[in-house]
Amino acid sequence: MTKKKENDYKSRAGDIRERKWTYSAVSAYLRCPKYFELTYIDGVRASLSSDLVEGISHHHALDEDNITKYKKGKPTTAKKHYECFADNFSTEKKNIKVWGDKENTIINRGKLIINSYKVNDISNVVPAKINNKPANEYFFKFPIEVGRETYFIQGFIDLVSLPKKSFNLYDYKVTKAAKSQTFVNGSLQLSIYTIAIMKNTLTKASNVNAGIISMVKNSMIDVKTGHRNMKQLAWSMGVVKEVIKAAEKGIFPMCNPENYLCSDKYCGHWKRCRGK
Ligand code: SF4
Repeated sequence: MTKKKENDYKSRAGDIRERKWTYSAVSAYLRCPKYFELTYIDGVRASLSSDLVEGISHHHALDEDNITKYKKGKPTTAKKHYECFADNFSTEKKNIKVWGDKENTIINRGKLIINSYKVNDISNVVPAKINNKPANEYFFKFPIEVGRETYFIQGFIDLVSLPKKSFNLYDYKVTKAAKSQTFVNGSLQLSIYTIAIMKNTLTKASNVNAGIISMVKNSMIDVKTGHRNMKQLAWSMGVVKEVIKAAEKGIFPMCNPENYLCSDKYCGHWKRCRGK
């Protein structure tokens, strides 16, 4: 892990104490309140898995590609894109504590995924210019009132484009299977991102199309998007508020042990929690 990422990591627990929440924090609480407590309250770093580093490395290479598209009007070559992915993985692999697939499998799979991505139309999408900045890894922050207190929701959207007069926003997922339309339509993450774009650009919900670009491990690329109505957006803020309230009250139970995520393979806190 680079020094910058190490510092970013250490700042996450502090962010919560400063009332700055991210989708990742909300989702961590929903997944397992104990996991949230260890990560965001105690500031303990979860063990890195090879799955996570594979995903981070793809995100890094995709972001470099998006910057190139914005600056030069055309994407990086498949070779450069792959090299960026492989270099990042190679740098970060020393921090991996939980290996799933072998390194060779991950690197070879990366090449196939990137080759498929490069021949898909989605690879030509160029980041929009929002407030004079390219909208790749687009930072947002907006307030949310919980009781008498003001909190902030913040984060980064992988890619926002403006093909006509409406915004398309995308989240990349490196995954075993393509995300379904039901998953996309009900995504809390995409609802939060939709609200962020509405607030930052003063646009309507009907002008925001939010979706997921699945980089599937069998090298298929799948893109699904959808619009969200005001009811769905209000629901998402309700969920966020309930999580914030519970965390503020110090409610951090362990999740159901039957949950497959509560395992050495999927929980980076396993060895200091249920697995100790
Ligand atoms: S081991 Fe299970 S209960 Fe403990 S933090 Fe991980 S998911 Fe939660």
